[in-house]
Amino acid sequence: MRALVLLAALVAAAAGTETFVGHQVLRIIPTSDEELQKVQELQDLEELQLDFWLAPRGPGYPVDVRVPFPSLQPLKAHLEANGVSYSIMIEDVQALVDDERTEMLRGRRRLPLSTNTFDYAAYHNLDEIYTFMDLLVAENPNLVSKLEIGRSTENRPIYVLKFSKGGPNRPAVWIDTGIHSREWVTQASGVWFAKKIVLDHENDEGLASILDTMDIFLEIVTNPDGFVFTQTQNRMWRKTRSRHSGSNCIGVDPNRNWDAGFGGPGASKNPCSETYHGPYANSEPEVKAIVDFVKNHGNIKAFVSIHSYSQLLLYPYGYTRTPVPDQKELHQVSQKAVAALSSLYGTKYKYGSIITTIYQASGGTIDWTYNQGIKYSFTFELRDTGRYGFLLPAKQIVPTAQETWLALKVIMLHARDHLY
Ligand SMILES: [Zn+2]
Repeated sequence: MRALVLLAALVAAAAGTETFVGHQVLRIIPTSDEELQKVQELQDLEELQLDFWLAPRGPGYPVDVRVPFPSLQPLKAHLEANGVSYSIMIEDVQALVDDERTEMLRGRRRLPLSTNTFDYAAYHNLDEIYTFMDLLVAENPNLVSKLEIGRSTENRPIYVLKFSKGGPNRPAVWIDTGIHSREWVTQASGVWFAKKIVLDHENDEGLASILDTMDIFLEIVTNPDGFVFTQTQNRMWRKTRSRHSGSNCIGVDPNRNWDAGFGGPGASKNPCSETYHGPYANSEPEVKAIVDFVKNHGNIKAFVSIHSYSQLLLYPYGYTRTPVPDQKELHQVSQKAVAALSSLYGTKYKYGSIITTIYQASGGTIDWTYNQGIKYSFTFELRDTGRYGFLLPAKQIVPTAQETWLALKVIMLHARDHLY
């Protein structure tokens, strides 16, 4: 085991992969507006190279930040001098990355020959997930098909799985995972959802009835360039991999690039920021592909975009404090969905609108879809609440997907019952 970890570290170093040796994830909980201000100021100190896993929200809310080794002592001293308390959530980020890598190498010895032998309790690379999709389509030609809706910046195909019992342009549900590439439990859950739909489409009464009237579209790897980058270069990559003129920094936050309050508060105009909104709305081909698909389809009734982590179910808006006209209904659906989710393993979720539950964020996916008339627009933040953050152990993939599926079914059933 130790030898394998060492080997993985050596391979990583040889491949020029970003390492996180000595990095820690600190949880800071500002208790007043003054302390919040101090924490917010840290975001502008580029020389510290801080990576905010949970951005500042308000007094009393945790801020999780990955701190490179050289910045640890200065940051801790700074916090202590200002009377801001913190705790260590992850003692050694690289140790978790190594564990994850060892686990993946172990899983890779078993190549999937069918979706029945595919290892759903492991993280997979892009080729394996794309192979999984082809196997699923080949095994279920009457239910599943694969559409290429566009190409990424690095020219990778962007695929959507379509689950349909037939009929032209039926009302539909859209689910996407992995728009932020480092949120690996989301793509892994997407794979599990795809298999679940195939397994249950006749036997599960609820799902069968959904598919009697609606199609389901599932985009598992929504940011393929970023996903490949997280597996080959930098596990903590969040954005796309586009290059826009005038900056050395790469990538746009694909959840700030939509045409809803674009460029407003809660998005950054700095190309080096993790929340850079891009030069203009829909500049990212990964976003544009979905925009075109949604407009061309014209009959999508529910749109669910899945992120991690924090255990939240959110509805619009993020860019404005004005509540959506359907606030009451969306709140009730969220409550029901969260109750279903929690019923399986007791996982606790909070829910509400984006701006009231987390923070103001402009140019987000579901604000745009809602404004397009897709009333049932939701975002999930899956497990956990910060113990592992983006480095959720693979053994939590299946339980996470299982519980989330129960919530998705509530949303889909509600949409089906309120089509017109
Ligand atoms: Zn995200």
